[in-house]
Amino acid sequence: MNILVINCGSSSLKFQLINAETEQLIAKGLCERIGIEGSKISYTPAGGSKEEKETPMENHTDAIRMVIEALTNEKTGVVKSLEEIGAVGHRIVHGGEKFAEAAILNEEVLSAIAECNDLAPLHNPANLIGINACRKLMPDTPMVGVFDTAFHQTMPAKAYMYGLPYEYYEKYKVRRYGFHGTSHSYVSKRAAEVLGKNYEDLKIIVCHLGNGASVSAVKNGKCVDTSMGLTPLEGLIMGTRSGDIDPAIMEFIAHKENKTIEEVISVLNKKSGVLGLSGNLSSDFRDIEEGYHAGNEKAVLAMEAFAYRVAKYIGAYVAAMNGVDVICFTAGVGENGPLVRRMICDNYLGYLGINLDEEANNRRGEDISITTPDSRVIVMTVPTNEELAIARETYRLVR
Ligand code: ADP
Repeated sequence: MNILVINCGSSSLKFQLINAETEQLIAKGLCERIGIEGSKISYTPAGGSKEEKETPMENHTDAIRMVIEALTNEKTGVVKSLEEIGAVGHRIVHGGEKFAEAAILNEEVLSAIAECNDLAPLHNPANLIGINACRKLMPDTPMVGVFDTAFHQTMPAKAYMYGLPYEYYEKYKVRRYGFHGTSHSYVSKRAAEVLGKNYEDLKIIVCHLGNGASVSAVKNGKCVDTSMGLTPLEGLIMGTRSGDIDPAIMEFIAHKENKTIEEVISVLNKKSGVLGLSGNLSSDFRDIEEGYHAGNEKAVLAMEAFAYRVAKYIGAYVAAMNGVDVICFTAGVGENGPLVRRMICDNYLGYLGINLDEEANNRRGEDISITTPDSRVIVMTVPTNEELAIARETYRLVR
């Protein structure tokens, strides 16, 4: 069965078509600037070359129509008709406390997702728009929602509750939810598989370090803590997000800079992190790394602060699980950044008996251990594949 995986944002839509039995990628692409002037679609069939086409897309229904056109067209299409797409898997950012697992999208599930909208006002409404557009054009195809928050629903209350008046949880469900769950789940399982060990016997820390970044603690196959919170703003220093700060800073800055809370939050989301720390050099870690090597002081600071924060979370999660067997690095920076991994492991994790294997640490894009055989804790790079994980979940539910 071929499964179309859709990751829909407010003005963009990423898609992949995956053969669920062989797990091979058949084609992938991206619609950008939906509803904005200059919209375009890029499309790459597996083994073929990338095509880009500027074409008006007024809304997400237009975008899905373009996706279907690209997948079925006579020249570079990969399927003859929509009938060769057995199901659609949608990435959904926030499932609140309602979804600890993926779910078949029916009316009841869709209204439960809409009820989570105020927990993720930027993301969930966009996800729903994508789902509705797909349902319109593919009314007979089963659809599944896979939630970023679901994997973290196993956290105990002591980990997900904030030190706030309890009524905020009762009234508004203010608590830690965590994100990147599909990645944390995929990577931790994959690590156990590569090591030939039983997932349920391991204590694993996953560091998902991309533009957005989070760490999770997975004990005996269940997530017990994670660094993102009610929203993806909490935790690590990220590309443009601040991560943890003293909450009182918000009022302080609001007064000093004459900003509203919304404006301060926007600074914390979009102008902070390594972008802000580096004095606006870049949010892209490749640029920060270049600045680091060139001796740019703020780039050095951004890099050191980033690595230090990751190391502190690893330390916290060793305590949370009373030990650790495997630490995994994944996502853009985690998979491709030997310098960041070295800064974290060599500077702060020696007490765990971690010995990096320099040669292995310099490799990229492989599921491998990057520690020497005598290392007491195994450190690995494990490339994430959220789309494949979504396709697997979708297949499991519709089969
Ligand atoms: P997201 O999905 O959150 O946008 P990614 O997982 O794609 O993020 O990660 C993007 C980040 O990965 C960028 O900051 C980018 O600089 C970094 N990255 C990608 N390739 C490399 C590389 N070769 N070396 C260092 N960082 C890299």
